[in-house]
Amino acid sequence: MSYIDVYVEHNTLKLNSVFTYSCREDVLPGCRVKVSFGSQELIGFVAKIDVIPKTSSIKEVLEVIDKEPLINQELFELASYISKRYVCSVISVLKTMLPPALKPSSSRARVIYEDWIDLGKENVDLTIKQKKALESIQDRLPMKASLVRKEITLTKVLLEKGALQIFKKVKHTESIEDTVQDTSFALTSEQIQAIETIDSGNERTYLLHGVTGSGKTEVFLQLAQKVLDQGKQVLFLVPEIGLTPMMIQRVKARFKTGIALYHSSLNAQEKYEQYLSVKENRVSIVVGTRSSVFMPFSKLGLILMDEEHDGSYKQDSMPRYHTRDVVLARARYHNCKVVLSSATPSLDSYARAYKNVYRLVELKQRIHQDMPSIHLVDMKKESSKHGLSESLIQAIQRCLDHKEQAILLLNRRGYLPVVKCAQCQNVLSCPDCGLALSYHKNQDLLMCHCCGRVFHFDHTCPQCHSHDFFQLSMGTEKLEEHLHTLFPEANILRMDADSTRKKNAHAAILKEFETKGDILLGTQMVAKGLDFERVTVVGILQADASLARVDYQSAETAYAMLEQASGRCGRNVLEGHVYIQTFEPDHYVMQSVLHHDYSSFFFKEMKYRHLGQYPPYVYLCTVIYTHFNEQKAMEVANEAKLFLKDAKVLGPISISMRQKKKRVRLVLKCKDENQLNFMVWSLVEHHLKLRTPVKQDINMYPVGLEE
Ligand code: ADP
Ligand code: ZN
Ligand code: ZN
Repeated sequence: MSYIDVYVEHNTLKLNSVFTYSCREDVLPGCRVKVSFGSQELIGFVAKIDVIPKTSSIKEVLEVIDKEPLINQELFELASYISKRYVCSVISVLKTMLPPALKPSSSRARVIYEDWIDLGKENVDLTIKQKKALESIQDRLPMKASLVRKEITLTKVLLEKGALQIFKKVKHTESIEDTVQDTSFALTSEQIQAIETIDSGNERTYLLHGVTGSGKTEVFLQLAQKVLDQGKQVLFLVPEIGLTPMMIQRVKARFKTGIALYHSSLNAQEKYEQYLSVKENRVSIVVGTRSSVFMPFSKLGLILMDEEHDGSYKQDSMPRYHTRDVVLARARYHNCKVVLSSATPSLDSYARAYKNVYRLVELKQRIHQDMPSIHLVDMKKESSKHGLSESLIQAIQRCLDHKEQAILLLNRRGYLPVVKCAQCQNVLSCPDCGLALSYHKNQDLLMCHCCGRVFHFDHTCPQCHSHDFFQLSMGTEKLEEHLHTLFPEANILRMDADSTRKKNAHAAILKEFETKGDILLGTQMVAKGLDFERVTVVGILQADASLARVDYQSAETAYAMLEQASGRCGRNVLEGHVYIQTFEPDHYVMQSVLHHDYSSFFFKEMKYRHLGQYPPYVYLCTVIYTHFNEQKAMEVANEAKLFLKDAKVLGPISISMRQKKKRVRLVLKCKDENQLNFMVWSLVEHHLKLRTPVKQDINMYPVGLEE
């Protein structure tokens, strides 16, 4: 009889500790067991095994589910690290680590098996015909049962006689492979230098800052090759994969086999297969999105994180981890290197590189061309038709005349609620926070979403007294219509949330654009990762929509989006031209993009962050209180603020509702990471004691502030 400590499947932080059960069967840490808990039967993970009971009244385990551990020692430790750091339950992390088919109560996602046939007993008495049939297939066994049956009619007899035998195997879904040709080229001296620096460096973490089209991917692939040659595994992280079919194709073209793909559009069965292939050491390179950071590697030799600034690396439900943190933890365990890469690194990462926490490696030159020329189109001066400026229309026409391609981005991020004077371009903002105010139509008032102050809105510009305010609103569909009228001959493709809803739709649109498209228009999606050699014009509409400071990060996201979108043209022998339609051509974000000058952007932005005391100068945590009754949520939030008396707390303010429930937000700021962590954990305990129906939701190190 042993005594086991179990994490039961219950997400609440209240139950974030182990419970002891007795167990007669052999069981290992990391296995799942079924236990009775209160009046329920729950699944749990075995954390530890003891021989001596800690208390007297101990229930017995109902069932041991796994023979082999699902979660190894490394991942268990990782789970408690993430739980502690992100103030979430261990079980929520354990659940996130596993593919859906293996999650504690996986009634929905069952693993599908299929019949396979292998050789059975030897020396079975067979007729000549039966022998012949057996011989015709035996070199190719094991085979899928359905295939064997198709090939030989005597399968049934051979099975009955025992010459063949049936066994079950996890069904393998065929993935559609369209193989592209691998291209190899002589590396540029910058690429050679970068590879050399990373390969021979003593540092753990590298930030590869390379301008768009500087050949970062090639550096990645070559570094990966070196590690694979040593018989180690490589993790290659990419943002939401739907967005980077081109990247996957390149990895496949280079390494051909031994690749697992792991991303959100796989179904449960597919995920399980990929997971197993890593666990059983059948693959050596995993290309995947956020969740693949938890793959059960045994000898990880390198972690590559592409487009490290991308927002999809932070999970926005419990556990709200950032992939970068998990990457660093795994690299410490496996003692391997990490390369973060981007043309527009996050301020956090660049600041660390600046302080030599990460080693900075730069690629300053494009492979084929100079950086594209940027044209800031001043919308205050230039006439426009349906939101398209005269210069952009002409550029598209030239592009079509030369049988080249254009990409148009309609920027919609945070576009509407900001109020902007149509006469003097003044954006109404909070005097305390310097962030743009949001217009709340229902109550006809303005609100600062940072500190929560509410302002009366008399529909008059305080600067020029005009009554004329901007409505920044046009959708991609409307734009598509206009484009058809302006360029009736052109083949126009649209890429947005609507047109990419279906599986593989994204890849299909890109394929069509590559082969016969003239204009690709879309939302932020078209800014990411595309590499087409005939694209010579990029147009960005409503470029300022994300500039207004609703959120301390808006300038950072705006800069990244503009620079990345610009980077989609002029990537090969043809020159690129970018038209950015803006009302604020003098804004430092616009000026930095104009000169492709990341570091000038970095230093200016850091100044703002310092003044406003925002990351990376401080650590943030948002706490959101949710209840049907706003009053109640507000009371609890105010109470929490009192409890946190020593800390810098912004709010409470009410923010947008979720599932009919009102939400109230606090923002905690702290210079010391450990102190913040301590404070938030004590807030959790405090909240549990209140026994209130108001839900408290913690988001450590949020990316942007939720509204
Ligand atoms: P980035 O990821 O930095 O934007 P990519 O890795 O996509 O850039 O490279 C841009 C293009 O240049 C790709 O089409 C790639 O195949 C090509 N390329 C990369 N390295 C070289 C090289 N050394 N010589 C020629 N072409 C290259
Ligand atoms: Zn005005
Ligand atoms: Zn404010």
